[in-house]
Amino acid sequence: AKKQGGNGFQFCSEEMDTRAHKALELEGDLRQALQLGSFVLHYQPKVKIASGKIDGCEALVRWNHPDKGMISPDDFIPLAEETGLIIALGEWVLREACRQFKAWQAQGLPPIKIAVNLSARQFLQSDFVESIQTILHEFDIDPHWLDLELTESMVMEDPDRIAKLLAELKQIGFALSLDDFGTGYSSLNYLRRFPIDCLKIDRSFILDVASDATAASVANSVIGIAHSLGIHAIAEGVETREQYAFLAMCECDSIQGYLFSKPLPANDLAALLANPTPF
Ligand code: C2E
Ligand code: CA
Ligand code: CA
Ligand code: CA
Repeated sequence: AKKQGGNGFQFCSEEMDTRAHKALELEGDLRQALQLGSFVLHYQPKVKIASGKIDGCEALVRWNHPDKGMISPDDFIPLAEETGLIIALGEWVLREACRQFKAWQAQGLPPIKIAVNLSARQFLQSDFVESIQTILHEFDIDPHWLDLELTESMVMEDPDRIAKLLAELKQIGFALSLDDFGTGYSSLNYLRRFPIDCLKIDRSFILDVASDATAASVANSVIGIAHSLGIHAIAEGVETREQYAFLAMCECDSIQGYLFSKPLPANDLAALLANPTPF
């Protein structure tokens, strides 16, 4: 509440001080968390509609904070990006996903692709390709098991440069997905030049497919675009049977969302893989 008799300017600047102070504190915490190993990855399964089977998962980072509990990435990724800490954090995420992939293999589980989210700042580092290859060699993993998720808005920032980078990564053998599709401004002409394997339809389009004819028609068109490019379509944020039924009818390839499973700790995903119950 506004202080009695205080002037507005003073109120604002006090508030800004607190906010700046909080951000600074959080930045220090973030730095320390990286050193202490306080981050964890959870894994959300991706399910193929035709077979009902898990054919991949997405690694999603969480910060296991000593006082504040599990902190969602939306609350610290933006700050990590601003401060440049995303480079070190992003590298940790890649390494941890690779380590987990090998651990699941050692447990005798069927291999599935692991998708990792990349930030623009991380991806556009001059030595990104080299550093991701070093990690793969370190863990002795074939690149096709790693699916790199880049957002649509990120690739449209510098499409020519990104197209070259994507071609290089495709050549090495990585799987490439365009995340949050529909929220950016891709020109179809660029889309054609990006060697991607999969379009991920943003949750905001999936939300209303069962109740709103326009949303349904847009989702259906995006699936059509993916198929005319010869690539897969996956719907994110699928929560209801009705959404699922609609997507199956539109021949969407895969789904990801709470309807099948929330993001899970590694052991829980391993249990699902060991005891597959067709969806
Ligand atoms: P995203 O890549 O679009 O990931 C999907 C988000 O939707 C995840 O949130 C996931 O938990 C949530 N979600 C999945 N299914 C459902 C559903 O059915 N309903 C609803 N309401 N939500 C669903 P999360 O884990 O909080 O991650 C948020 C964002 O943080 C991600 O969005 C991604 O942009 C970013 N992020 C997460 N991990 C990383 C990372 O390792 N590196 C980078 N650079 N960004 C990351
Ligand atoms: Ca993603
Ligand atoms: Ca997404
Ligand atoms: Ca999204």
